[in-house]
Amino acid sequence: MRIDLHTHSTASDGTDTPAELVRKAAAAGLDVVALTDHDTTRGHAEALAALPQGLTLVTGAELSCRLDGVSMHLLAYLFDPEEPALLAERELVRDDRVPRAKGMIARLNELGVPVTWEQVARIAGNGSVGRPHVASALVELGVVDSVSDAFTPEWLADGGRAYVPKHETDPFEAVRLVKNAGGVAVFAHPAAVKRGRTVPDSAIAELARAGLDGIEVDHMDHDPGTRARLRSLAGELELLVTGSSDYHGSRKTCVLGEFSTDPEVYGEITRRATGAFPVPGTGGAV
Ligand code: AMP
Ligand code: ZN
Ligand code: FE
Ligand code: FE
Repeated sequence: MRIDLHTHSTASDGTDTPAELVRKAAAAGLDVVALTDHDTTRGHAEALAALPQGLTLVTGAELSCRLDGVSMHLLAYLFDPEEPALLAERELVRDDRVPRAKGMIARLNELGVPVTWEQVARIAGNGSVGRPHVASALVELGVVDSVSDAFTPEWLADGGRAYVPKHETDPFEAVRLVKNAGGVAVFAHPAAVKRGRTVPDSAIAELARAGLDGIEVDHMDHDPGTRARLRSLAGELELLVTGSSDYHGSRKTCVLGEFSTDPEVYGEITRRATGAFPVPGTGGAV
């Protein structure tokens, strides 16, 4: 069984539509894929409608959180998408991304970059708008050579010249909301130092006591030493260990299935979830 529990589509900052994503996941030989767009479940219906035979979809989202000034991401799986409190929080964060993107565009304009909201909105389409869309606009304008080159202090990195924060949920509150909606909560790439500051192990321990189910260990932003350290921390704290590609289509270099989750851990996630259930593909209408 090959299980990839973290991917993005055009519903946020990936470049494949949800239908393209599930077709590519099947073609890549995956048995299970989770669609975890930033702060939205908007891509799920299309992914389900297109789901090929032999591929199972885990519905999810990646929730933007902040602890003591440090941005962090919480993967939420198999929660009830209609549960009002979590739904309201997701919409709050997703909707705040629009004025925030406009704020970053204003900063860039002050820095002499002629990026416009129309350009960024065209790139983002229906997706939760984020820094990768602004970064793609900077690539189009020839300001930087690649999306990742825009994530520097000069431009869009945390605290960078054109960075503007967005509303982000307290992770203790997010864990509570996810559990209350019948979901399973996994801390995404907890030690991805290249993205900026990370939270200390003591915070992971506190989150574990508050109901966090697991941590994402096998991720491209963790080097082998970091993975070993996180694996042993997970052992101490009795947290589940996941692995995933964090696929973003052509906006990032990782490929589907590059890292994967142990089938036993996947089984435990499905046993803990009560808000939704994995959906086996029936062929795909599109
Ligand atoms: P936002 O949620 O709008 O603040 O954007 C965060 C997203 O930007 C992350 O989920 C990643 O997809 C992407 N990102 C963050 N840091 C980097 C980086 N150093 N290089 C490339 N993409 C990044
Ligand atoms: Zn992303
Ligand atoms: Fe993330
Ligand atoms: Fe992600």
